Amino acid sequence: MTFKSAYLKLTAFYVLIVMIISVFFSLVLYRISSNELNQSLRQQMRNLQELQFFEGSMNYISDFELMRLQQLAQANHNLKYYLIYFNSVIFVVSFGLGYFLAKRTLKPIRQMMESQNRFTADASHELRTPLTAMKSEIEVNLRDQNLNLENAKKLLRSNLEEVEKLENLSSSLLKLANYENNKNLAMENVALEDIIAESYLRVERQAKEKQITFENDLKNIKINGNRDSLIQLFKILLDNAIKYSKPNSKIFILMDKIGNDAVIKVRDQGMGIEEEDLKHIFDRFYRTDLSRSKNKNNGYGLGLSIAMQIVKMHKGKINVESQINQGSEFTVILPA
Ligand code: ADP
Repeated sequence: MTFKSAYLKLTAFYVLIVMIISVFFSLVLYRISSNELNQSLRQQMRNLQELQFFEGSMNYISDFELMRLQQLAQANHNLKYYLIYFNSVIFVVSFGLGYFLAKRTLKPIRQMMESQNRFTADASHELRTPLTAMKSEIEVNLRDQNLNLENAKKLLRSNLEEVEKLENLSSSLLKLANYENNKNLAMENVALEDIIAESYLRVERQAKEKQITFENDLKNIKINGNRDSLIQLFKILLDNAIKYSKPNSKIFILMDKIGNDAVIKVRDQGMGIEEEDLKHIFDRFYRTDLSRSKNKNNGYGLGLSIAMQIVKMHKGKINVESQINQGSEFTVILPA
């Protein structure tokens, strides 16, 4: 609704500019044309007066003068009519074109606002879920007259779990906001091998719990990048690879230098991603139905959006190929 009135206001503005120019030129044209006509009439009259001087046909001249004056009035009237007609056409065309242009101009702003609104709604929803769970548990326990220490501890443990979820969510939101806004993180020369090793250390426990093993083919490639954010990027990819893989499977980390780019692949043998989900998994809060059903309460769908921001910050690319029940392969390309 707000956008419809913005389209109309912008259109009115475009039409106003076009009409000011068009009316201004029409007036100038009208003035010049009627002056030209006037002058040519005067010139003809002067010629005729000279003729009269020689031939003395007074009546003929005054008839002729009258006729020329009528012609002049008619020509001025026609010109006025054409200019009004022309300006009306310009008005209609500029309105149509202006509306089209206004829609095009405001499209990115509309999309940004829609995505911002979706983001706020999703974030509020995710924040409310653990809060509601905590609230109802506390209420039930407070109503219990015979609440013993054991049940009270159970309640506290469960509340602590919800608080941890809230903590994770807010720290993911903060990271996302930081990477989206802070485009000027300190860049340095970093060895990708070290980055991968550091990221691995952060997910080692989860990998061991699921008895997942790694096969690596790492190379000595250096890039100009922000160390902490790159560690975060590969931690997200490795964390997902572990989360969405079956126990006892393998994860491959492959690295190569192609032209001026470092190409890093993280390949798993996990549950894979449906074709129609592939184009959305980098969206904020997007989780596939498959991952929701198999990994309840595990993640908020923010990891890959953060990964995408980090890759963008490094002027790189990230893409994914996947087959259901065969596995997924995330490829990160960073300028080396
Ligand atoms: P989450 O915290 O839910 O893992 P992400 O943004 O990291 O959020 O991932 C978004 C979604 O993409 C996940 O919910 C999951 O459905 C899918 N996904 C990401 N990585 C993989 C993977 N390696 N294998 C299968 N599905 C994946």
